[in-house]
Amino acid sequence: MMLFLLVIWSAVAAVCAAVAKSKGRSPEAWFALGFLFSLVALFVLACLPSLAAPVRIQSYCIHCGAALTQVGNFCSWCGQPVSGNHLPQ
Ligand SMILES: [Zn+2]
Repeated sequence: MMLFLLVIWSAVAAVCAAVAKSKGRSPEAWFALGFLFSLVALFVLACLPSLAAPVRIQSYCIHCGAALTQVGNFCSWCGQPVSGNHLPQ
């Protein structure tokens, strides 16, 4: 029974570490917190905002003005060809 609880406890700590990594936080620290506080730490981590960098707008379409998050040959909104960076003036 004790071994079963230890396995569950470690699994929760591992999930904490994985969630922390996906949110741009320290997986080692959150593994320790998950091991100490179990589901409480997981709940707190779930409520915390992500530190990972948000999607950056790289340019705007010169035809429709839509924000383009990646440089491509065609605008994903209007289908017009786009070239280079067209940052707003
Ligand atoms: Zn466009």
